[in-house]
Amino acid sequence: MVSTIVSSPTRWLHFLEEYYQKEIDELLVEYPKKKSLWIRYCDVEFFDTELAEELLDSPDDSLENAKQALKEFHYGEISLDDAHLRIVGLPKLRSFMVRDLRSEHINKLVAVEGLVRKATEVRPKVTKALFRCTKCGHEFFVEQEGNELKEPEKCRNEECDGKRFIFLPKGSKFTNAQKLRIQEAPEELRGGEQPQTIDVELEDDLAGIVNPGDRIVIVGILRIRPRGSQQRRSIFYDLALEGVSIEVREQEFEELEMSEEDIQQIKELAKNPDIDKMIVGSIAPSIYGYDDIKEAIALQLFSGIPKHLPDGTYIRGDIHILLVGDPGIAKSQLLRYVKQLAPRGIYTSGKSTTSAGLTATAVKDEFGDGRWTLEAGALVMADKGIAAVDELDKMDAEDRSALHEAMEQQTISVAKAGILATLKSRCALLGAANPKFGRFDPYSPVAEQINMPPALLSRFDLIFVMQDYPDVEKDSKLSSHILTSHYAGELIERSKIDPSVRENLEGVLDIIKPEIPPELLRKYIAYSRRTIFPVMEKEAIELLKEFYVGLRAEGRDEGAPIPVTARQLEALVRIAEASARMRLSDKITVEDARRTIKIVERSLNQVAKDPETGRLDVDILTVGQSKTQRDRVKIVIDIIKELTSEGGMASEKDISAEAQKHGIDEDRVKEILRKLREEGMIYMPTYGNYRLAT
Ligand code: ADP
Ligand code: MG
Repeated sequence: MVSTIVSSPTRWLHFLEEYYQKEIDELLVEYPKKKSLWIRYCDVEFFDTELAEELLDSPDDSLENAKQALKEFHYGEISLDDAHLRIVGLPKLRSFMVRDLRSEHINKLVAVEGLVRKATEVRPKVTKALFRCTKCGHEFFVEQEGNELKEPEKCRNEECDGKRFIFLPKGSKFTNAQKLRIQEAPEELRGGEQPQTIDVELEDDLAGIVNPGDRIVIVGILRIRPRGSQQRRSIFYDLALEGVSIEVREQEFEELEMSEEDIQQIKELAKNPDIDKMIVGSIAPSIYGYDDIKEAIALQLFSGIPKHLPDGTYIRGDIHILLVGDPGIAKSQLLRYVKQLAPRGIYTSGKSTTSAGLTATAVKDEFGDGRWTLEAGALVMADKGIAAVDELDKMDAEDRSALHEAMEQQTISVAKAGILATLKSRCALLGAANPKFGRFDPYSPVAEQINMPPALLSRFDLIFVMQDYPDVEKDSKLSSHILTSHYAGELIERSKIDPSVRENLEGVLDIIKPEIPPELLRKYIAYSRRTIFPVMEKEAIELLKEFYVGLRAEGRDEGAPIPVTARQLEALVRIAEASARMRLSDKITVEDARRTIKIVERSLNQVAKDPETGRLDVDILTVGQSKTQRDRVKIVIDIIKELTSEGGMASEKDISAEAQKHGIDEDRVKEILRKLREEGMIYMPTYGNYRLAT
């Protein structure tokens, strides 16, 4: 290929003897169970810069030579005939984002960092196909490349002119193969850029190492793959990486490089007694109001502490928040802001723009060339970050059932076709949803108006209801806020063509300018999450305990014990931890506990109050019905039972009339009947007439 090749197998042999004798001896013992010799690029460079450069620029020849050299090593009968050299640790200059790969990198050795979005099953692939000539019976191998079986054109037997052959899979040589699609990691992207992807082809012992959602550094040779069909070849090509080595990053990427000055600045900032207010004030300043929601979001950004207990259990530290609200009140806007601010944020819609949706799916499509492919959804891609999911109520049924596990255990299990996998989804969920009927009815329980099962709702640490009702004072402040932001925006745009308006900007900018610049805040958050692990003070524990016990007791007044579960208690702990982290404190104080109680109370008041009695009733959240509702449902069932006690059916009219005597109006009866039918408790043999299901 390239004539300037300097390396020879001998040169590689010297290198291997000098630097990797020990590793090779170990490999010889384990071969062929282990098949790879892992080589650090810097060692090659240290040995001989020319050899190293050639490895980068002509990897095909260079690696072939190295492979020949490796065959020289023996241990008794054993030699490393089919072993591979896996090069890791390429220099920075050769590490690329997917978007920066260009045609000049074709057939060169490059490193690419990314997140695994899709992975196929590992399946055998023919590398050397055995054929038999139908005319003379001669058998011979044909080396394979590409996706289609390459057949011989003529018989290898000189004396034979046979043109038809039989493929003999049994005698052919196979290797394991897997295809991945990797995507740029969210933290590498700025301001709403769409992540780009590249496909990776892996063979032999590299296949089956990674799962969707893993963060990897892949070293490979950049190849081109034709587009279009065999018949109509396009002149445009796709890029693909032929894998030479993979490293899985258990640790986070070197995300957000932080200098000594940055850290100094962060520590300085934390000393400010008003730091909490400053942080909350820096979240979406262009959005008016919602101080409690912004505070909750701030806490979510800092997150509680994930814990691995000695008995093997894992407790999440991530705080899940749900915003339910009327349309047009800046839910989506808030979510987008969080995506930009979070050190590792993803914004997506429950309506699912990708086939993988929120959790994960297994599909059999073109990508896998007939193999099953496992694709990671948003919650897997947001691992160790925040997933802002808009229109969460519109997610499909499959996601909905997988979400329980994803939120609590922070894993997503897939068992479909040949694929069995458990993917990690250690992220905080910030969901937004519209009320089921478009707008909130303030007289019905919130849980009933959210298109989500109660069991799922109870997994949110905080739920906020955003209602849009006319209020002259609020509306006036809101409108001047929005108008001023737009005015400031206009001035900023105008000043680009007319610098003279710049002076008008003074003062106007203040209301939309975050107190802490977003870049610094991102670093502050990342620093805190990485280094701050606070511990609860005694008084704080006492206070939280008292509140929790009180919460449970409140429901008891009415007679029925309510399942305020340990989930609420865990939510309290997480929020308190996040609160301490916000000011980089090692201690969770009474102040943190107080703030926690305040915010949890506000959230519970909004969603768990029985609108009829004004009482706190967590059943609304966990069961989806308040006690009064449950009573009503029971009354209706009893009525139907009574009316049909002698056989026949109960007409809606009769049920309604009976129910009125118990103070249940017609609309309610209709609603209850509809629900009972949905739940399969009753059925309607003829229109408007009901019978209990037995
Ligand atoms: P939603 O997702 O709740 O339906 P959007 O986030 O799309 O609503 O908001 C609609 C528009 O109204 C956005 O441009 C948003 O900036 C604006 N808006 C609504 N409420 C506010 C507010 N409180 N402060 C500033 N802008 C607001
Ligand atoms: Mg919206």
